[in-house]
Amino acid sequence: MFADTHCHLTYLAGRGIDAVSVIRELADKEVPFVLDAGTRSNDLKERIDFVNGITAAIQDSSLKEKASSMLRFAAGIWPDKDAIADRFLHVDVLREQIELFADDKRLCAIGECGFDRHWNTDDADEKGEAELFDMQLDLARELQFPVIVHSRDAFEQTLAGIKNAGGSRGVIHCYSYGIEEARAFLDEGWYISLSGSVTYAKKARMNETEELVRFIPADRLLLETDAPYLAPVPFRGKPNTPLLIEHTYRFVANIRGLSVEELAASVLQNARVLFG
Ligand SMILES: [Zn+2]
Repeated sequence: MFADTHCHLTYLAGRGIDAVSVIRELADKEVPFVLDAGTRSNDLKERIDFVNGITAAIQDSSLKEKASSMLRFAAGIWPDKDAIADRFLHVDVLREQIELFADDKRLCAIGECGFDRHWNTDDADEKGEAELFDMQLDLARELQFPVIVHSRDAFEQTLAGIKNAGGSRGVIHCYSYGIEEARAFLDEGWYISLSGSVTYAKKARMNETEELVRFIPADRLLLETDAPYLAPVPFRGKPNTPLLIEHTYRFVANIRGLSVEELAASVLQNARVLFG
């Protein structure tokens, strides 16, 4: 019942987790929505093949149906140095991958893409990073897809990119800024997605976190795992899976004074509005 709007199912094995049993268990729990995000220009086909292989092997027909209907995919290029250096080539490859799945309704967004000024430090190609982002916003507009944005230590660049593109829509995934920055993204019509990292707030910063969690309007809030990363408390430091998102829902529902069921229903509704 708990939607996960951002995870990386093909990375689970690398953290010692069996994706087959995770997907089966998600389907068995009737999880309604799990979005697998892309990071490389050429990874869409391998991610869809991987998931199709798992669902095809499920014998029970009702479980198979649940597993295939919960999954969604995004395709995008994470801003690492190589992708930035060869950005034009990579965007062409991304287009080719997307064309392969033009008729697959599960493909519903561009991303993750954006800026990472934590890993891309001072000597990085800032202009190239912005161009890589702009090209993906253009592609999203052309396809009428929303965009899943990765933005770390790069609020100004991200907001400028979104404003310049005009008419884009999407979500700031794994949101890591404060209330003023959230207001700026919300004013552009964007959604804010919180990950398990909200559960990490230290006592001294808990007020700030709570204010942010309460500030995001109900119709613009999404939740995600970013699995296999960022497992929520009490699993912090362990590999994450979409099965653990319940802890983030409980944490956020508690702060917002909602039942976890109410929060789950509203996040699912938002995911359906944004991703179709
Ligand atoms: Zn991610």
